[in-house]
Amino acid sequence: MNFIVVGVIAPIAYFLLRMFVKRLVQNFILNAKKNSKVAEVQECQKCGVFKSVDDLTEKDNAYICKNNCSK
Ligand SMILES: [Zn+2]
Repeated sequence: MNFIVVGVIAPIAYFLLRMFVKRLVQNFILNAKKNSKVAEVQECQKCGVFKSVDDLTEKDNAYICKNNCSK
């Protein structure tokens, strides 16, 4: 009886585990892509200094320093 239960549950558990791991890996890759976009570096159109997009503000399709601009 136990053999039958294990024989049925084990493949299902294995299948669910594989689906779970696959989704986990996909989420990880998706997050890695998002993070790499956040870390994107752009040039300030005023002072020409390259900074992380986090430190820049977009204005008229150009990036300008949020603060501490050299010009
Ligand atoms: Zn600047």
